[in-house]
Amino acid sequence: MTAPSNSYDVIVVGGGISGLSAAKLLKSHGLNPVVLEARNRVGGRTFTVQNKETKWVDLGGAYVGPTQNRILRLAKEYNVQTYKVNEQERLVHYVEGKSYPFRGSLPPIWNPIALLDFNNLFRTMDEMGKEIPREAPWRAPHAEEWDKMSMLQLFEKICWTSAVRRFATLFVNVNVTSEPHEVSALWFLWYVKQCGGTMRIFSVSNGGQERKFVGGSNQISGFMAKELGDGVKLESPVYRIDQSGDLVVVETLDKQPTRYVIVATPPSLNLKMHFNPELPPLRNQLIHRVPMGSVIKCMVYYKENFWRKKGYCGTMVIEEEDAPIGLTLDDTKPDGSVPAIMGFILARKCRKLSGLTKEERLKKICEIYARVLDSEEALHPVHYEEKNWCEEEYSGGCYTAYFPPGILTQYGKVLREPVGRLYFAGTETATEWSGYMEGAVQAGERAARESEIWQPEPESVEVPALPFVTSFWERNLPSVGGLLKLTGVSALLTLATAAGLVAYKKGLLPRS
Ligand SMILES: Cc1cc2nc3c(=O)[nH]c(=O)nc-3n(C[C@H](O)[C@H](O)[C@H](O)COP(=O)(O)OP(=O)(O)OC[C@H]3O[C@@H](n4cnc5c(N)ncnc54)[C@H](O)[C@@H]3O)c2cc1C
Repeated sequence: MTAPSNSYDVIVVGGGISGLSAAKLLKSHGLNPVVLEARNRVGGRTFTVQNKETKWVDLGGAYVGPTQNRILRLAKEYNVQTYKVNEQERLVHYVEGKSYPFRGSLPPIWNPIALLDFNNLFRTMDEMGKEIPREAPWRAPHAEEWDKMSMLQLFEKICWTSAVRRFATLFVNVNVTSEPHEVSALWFLWYVKQCGGTMRIFSVSNGGQERKFVGGSNQISGFMAKELGDGVKLESPVYRIDQSGDLVVVETLDKQPTRYVIVATPPSLNLKMHFNPELPPLRNQLIHRVPMGSVIKCMVYYKENFWRKKGYCGTMVIEEEDAPIGLTLDDTKPDGSVPAIMGFILARKCRKLSGLTKEERLKKICEIYARVLDSEEALHPVHYEEKNWCEEEYSGGCYTAYFPPGILTQYGKVLREPVGRLYFAGTETATEWSGYMEGAVQAGERAARESEIWQPEPESVEVPALPFVTSFWERNLPSVGGLLKLTGVSALLTLATAAGLVAYKKGLLPRS
């Protein structure tokens, strides 16, 4: 089956990092893919805005760190530099109305009972993670049991102190923009494990938040799109995929026939599409059952970097129910210009504060920064940028999809299982740093390789394979069995001829 000459070998649905990575890999192997992107820009959940107040600002995915080798490989290829998020001065832990400066990844705990409790919680999460296979968490020995439990229930089992339970809640809020009661324990423990464990996922230095891209993360998608040229079509929301005929027909405003399709969107966004034939039962239900997290990313700009002057690096871990923000990081440019603090409004707080105006949210944010940093200057921002990802039609929320209790064991195995000629990418289908830009690259490249159209690696020019030439005798000599048969037959023939000759001579055979 070949695609008509005016069509594409593969259609990729979604021009985020995952879809673009898939198309880039297919193109580099001589294929002709096209990316259909619903929005008027590429990059999806990464979104860099440029203006005079900020120079540039990442309002979506931004941070990268060690072990995220694929996204770092792409950045290197396009010469996009990284810089370290500032963590030179002290971090601040704000709890029960007081600020406690500290150094390191996790806030120190002074109460010895709480300290034991804290240590045990993180050790237990990592230990449980070791039992969970990255590629198939539903095969973990305790998969059923842990999947029936929410993280809240697990915390209730493990934690003795309210201080640690409170911090554990923030740990879930920050990492997956949802609440402990909303997520399956099996899924969350898997999520932390596939990022390399509790320290790797949460840390700035040596962790997932160590660096940012100079100029913003959207450049990576921008470069990939440039490379694909006409192979990226913006403002092309796909609403129907029909694979009932010889070719798969993908419908936007136009119908586009193709041989294979890579769907590189968050799973739940497939609810906006019509499929013919209908999706198989488990896939059809899966896409109803994996909601997106809730987050508003908030950037507050100041005239001066007053927190560093006070000996604070800009990281604040804030535990207070009325505080809008749960975690902050310094967002000052690497050359020290444009002083800013990045903060996340997470999960329940995001839902609660979505109804406020932008100005009302900014006021609340500045008030808590003023309290945590004990600084009046925090009340006087010079600029503010924010992005509420819950309002994005083509994301449905962020950073990623989460699995409520009971879903991973029942539906997990179909997450990246192809359906006919449809293959599934998107960060949610990754097995390393799923939920992150890194996972998006892994998933896109895996889906590209998976499609049947995939061609094997071209032969090495330096180490070519030459044909082996065989001689006439090598081709025609009989086998031993053949030889025996041959010699057996000829011996019989010789015997029969001799016997015939004797009989003839003795007149036993008639002479005609
Ligand atoms: C606030 C925030 C902070 C984050 N922080 C980090 C971080 O620090 N580090 C990190 O690594 N990651 C972070 N992430 C997550 C990261 O951005 C994502 O994991 C990654 O960008 C996902 O890429 P993707 O290609 O899988 O999906 P997406 O980027 O969602 O791409 C899917 C694309 O499909 C398009 N689409 C959807 N439906 C259709 C349709 N019907 N037809 C055509 N196109 C369609 C969408 O418009 C989108 O462009 C963050 C995300 C957010 C929002």
